[in-house]
Amino acid sequence: MKRLLHRILSFFFPHPCLSCGMPVDESFFYHLCRDCAAYLASSGAAIQSPCVRCSAETYHNSAGLCYDCSLKEYSFLKNTSLLSYQNPVIRDMVLSFKFESDYLTGGDLARLLEPSVREFLNTRQFDIISSVPLSRRSLKERGYNQVDYILRQLEIPHTGLLERKDHPTHQSRLSQKERRETVKGQFTLMPDARGLIENKKILLIDDIFTTGSTAEECTTTLLAGGARETEILTFFRA
Ligand SMILES: [Zn+2]
Ligand SMILES: [Zn+2]
Repeated sequence: MKRLLHRILSFFFPHPCLSCGMPVDESFFYHLCRDCAAYLASSGAAIQSPCVRCSAETYHNSAGLCYDCSLKEYSFLKNTSLLSYQNPVIRDMVLSFKFESDYLTGGDLARLLEPSVREFLNTRQFDIISSVPLSRRSLKERGYNQVDYILRQLEIPHTGLLERKDHPTHQSRLSQKERRETVKGQFTLMPDARGLIENKKILLIDDIFTTGSTAEECTTTLLAGGARETEILTFFRA
């Protein structure tokens, strides 16, 4: 329904807002009008009562943990996600940035995330900030790492610590169980990372937190290499 409305409005306005269809003033956001951008960045795509451990937007127990977290242990301290991937506008933007190389959308996402990323970093202390890498093949296919792109837009310095092996199947097409199994052993420490991470608290940044298996696998690799602890920051929570 929203898509149909969007198409009708785009006939009259050549460059409508992705969310409400009104004309966009491109000087600020490329695909969103100012009102929708402000709404999405504040409450519109907020994660409602997130789990204190994994940021899941769901019912949780008196300790603030979701059902999954009340049963399982992660090796990382916690995951903080900033915006909800359940929001259809956010989801469309993430998909077109990730799979259609739409850099203008990438810039819009960076601007939407900016206030919450800055607030998170200003209130926390980490020895090293790093991002979850793509495999060499995915990086070649896509041309860029979407997390690094957003971090560069926001001028947040970060260090590469991990390398990722290629895998024959794309993760997004797999079930939860298959995902956990395919990420096993996918990450290795970069040759000169060992000296850097010894006894350090590391913030690892990724785009979407789904099952936590990628964050878990990266953490296991970093801890085995001598890191003290890791925390995860993800832009979006599935
Ligand atoms: Zn709008
Ligand atoms: Zn949880």
